[in-house]
Amino acid sequence: MQENTENLYARPHRRFNLLTNEWVLVSPHRTQRPWQGQVEDKPKEKQPEYDPNCYLCPGNERAGGAVNPDYQDTFVFTNDYAALLPDTPEAEQNENDLLIAESERGLSRVICFSPRHDLTLAKMSTKEIRRVVDVWAAQYEEIGAIDYIKSVQIFENRGAMMGASNPHPHGQIWANESLPNETVKELNASRAYFEKHGRSLLSDYLKTELEKGERIVHQNKHFVTLVPFWAVYPFETLVISRRQTSAISDLTANERDGLADILRETTANYDLLFDTPFPYTMGFHQRPTDGEDYPELHLHAHFYPPLLRSATIRKFMVGYELLGSPQRDITPETAAEMLRELKEK
Ligand SMILES: [Zn+2]
Ligand SMILES: [Zn+2]
Repeated sequence: MQENTENLYARPHRRFNLLTNEWVLVSPHRTQRPWQGQVEDKPKEKQPEYDPNCYLCPGNERAGGAVNPDYQDTFVFTNDYAALLPDTPEAEQNENDLLIAESERGLSRVICFSPRHDLTLAKMSTKEIRRVVDVWAAQYEEIGAIDYIKSVQIFENRGAMMGASNPHPHGQIWANESLPNETVKELNASRAYFEKHGRSLLSDYLKTELEKGERIVHQNKHFVTLVPFWAVYPFETLVISRRQTSAISDLTANERDGLADILRETTANYDLLFDTPFPYTMGFHQRPTDGEDYPELHLHAHFYPPLLRSATIRKFMVGYELLGSPQRDITPETAAEMLRELKEK
């Protein structure tokens, strides 16, 4: 059903998130309201190439006493403060279906993207990011091959606003024996769509978005960055592979280059938006590593940036958003246009 959406999008409305089966409230008329709330400090712009006090820089000692090697491109190690541990003994609780808990085995690793303390994905070359893509793929395969591991979550928290404790460019992997909430939601929605239509949800969604064009931000031969129709964060984006595949390790060499290039473009463009190193949480959704085929799943990455309207004003998830549904002011179409215009400058 094709409707004239102009009136719909200009007034309060809600949009359906296909991936999670949840709704988001959009209030475009509120974009002019004055801001008297919390203002964050603008992040320190200049970082040194090497910081003797950084526990991620080459040759430095970490909290646990280990010394980092003199690494040249990327470096992976087990998190010294891992949230998940491989030797957790099995245990469970269920009291009258009211108090339910179970032990969780897993592991957490840290990936340094570069020996340079001051380089971010946005400042790295496509070739340098390609090495990170290869490490992600190798780690996904290696950790996924551990018999009890079902989920390998690769992500990056960038910037103090997102809780990153160290400015040195690095990402994390948390892997565990059960599927996390977001994975379960997306798996259920993707499976229902696949059973009904025989194609991956994101293949069809991407096709529709490419036809409409209004939410597309970047694209190359292998990947597309767009502001999803149901985005909650003002400048949230989704990076989707054009070919349906469900893991980074399945990508061809050319596709890996395409992923590296679109990640560079997407992050560099974000930095231009408010003239600041743009904070975000970025992470991939891939198939569970239980050895099953997942033809309904489609490799993608989410970028969740907290900034609302400047380098120092962030979005909070409070009030109605905690109790009811998430809400945004500017429409995803406006956000995509703002991001596209930067690119054309
Ligand atoms: Zn460092
Ligand atoms: Zn996802």
